[in-house]
Amino acid sequence: MSEKLERIKTLIIGSGPAGYTAAIYAARADLKPVVYTGMEPGGQLTTTTEVDNFPGYPDGIDGPTMMIQLQQQAERFGTEVRIGMITAVELSKEVGGIHKAVVDNDKTIEAETVIISTGATAKYLNIPSEQRLRGGGVSACAVCDGFFYKGQDVAIVGGGDTAAEEASYLANICNKVTMLVRKDYMRASKAMQHRVNSLPNLEVRYNSQVDEVLGDQVVEGLRILNNITNEKEEIAITGLFIAIGHKPNTDIFKGQIDMDETGYIITKGKSTKTNLPGVFACGDSQDKEYRQAVTAAGTGCMAALDAERYLATIASPEQVA
Ligand code: NDP
Repeated sequence: MSEKLERIKTLIIGSGPAGYTAAIYAARADLKPVVYTGMEPGGQLTTTTEVDNFPGYPDGIDGPTMMIQLQQQAERFGTEVRIGMITAVELSKEVGGIHKAVVDNDKTIEAETVIISTGATAKYLNIPSEQRLRGGGVSACAVCDGFFYKGQDVAIVGGGDTAAEEASYLANICNKVTMLVRKDYMRASKAMQHRVNSLPNLEVRYNSQVDEVLGDQVVEGLRILNNITNEKEEIAITGLFIAIGHKPNTDIFKGQIDMDETGYIITKGKSTKTNLPGVFACGDSQDKEYRQAVTAAGTGCMAALDAERYLATIASPEQVA
């Protein structure tokens, strides 16, 4: 066999909590999984400092350490973890068909099952002061990092359901929350808007956007621009949350796998099955609602179980999956 072509049972694309949990289960089921890590080995958690909400860590754990431990746990059962990007795929539509994936535009992997755990990327405003202070008070996940701002004044950017939900979450634990909405209305559902408007320590500012995040090492304030009057105003805050949407990392599957209009992979019912036999999706690539490490890990487990059952079914078709 050419070195540039390799046949495996289970290919796992992506190395966040979903991918590594899928790998732990797949390896223990003897599927000999190979994980391709993608560009950010360990996924989004490697950019988080403290993870306080993953069950089993009473004192919390830092994101990068947690991901190394998950990798080690997957490797302990025989998972092969490889640094590399899957740059193209050719997925079979047939039951029992072989799926092809190209690694770094070079080598081709042929896999009986594919588990997609490519995650999603939080969108940022991409202004220099925001980028400089990421990890120093600027965060894209209120549920992950809000706790560190307990009793403090914070701001949140965005007017969709995520921003409204996260603003309410923050209002419960922070002293004051300022919500910046760039238009004169919110995109969030009416129910979420009612909730936001009912919170006494939450102030919504419409037609407002971030002009600059203030602070040298950590966030100390925010300069807000009113995009109608062009007036600028500075407020004191210690945390800034960006909630302007996520982009699922699913571009390479477009046209082959069923997705919603924003690129999230559609899975069937409570399973991780996609529209293609033998191809499963887990973690943030298919979840725009919960997006937590623990829920990603849960669906990773489900994907491995679904893959195992699928392989058992095609090995003996009379067996009911
Ligand atoms: P959305 O795309 O719905 O909303 C993004 C928000 O961010 C909009 O208000 C948008 O403003 C604003 N925005 C975008 N770019 C910028 C920018 N550069 N500067 C300032 N503001 C910006 O994303 P969400 O993450 O809120 O929601 C994604 C999907 O998930 C939606 O379908 C939502 O309904 C769903 N969801 C459902 C939940 C639930 O049911 N519990 C919870 C969370 C999400 P503008 O309107 O001006 O474009």
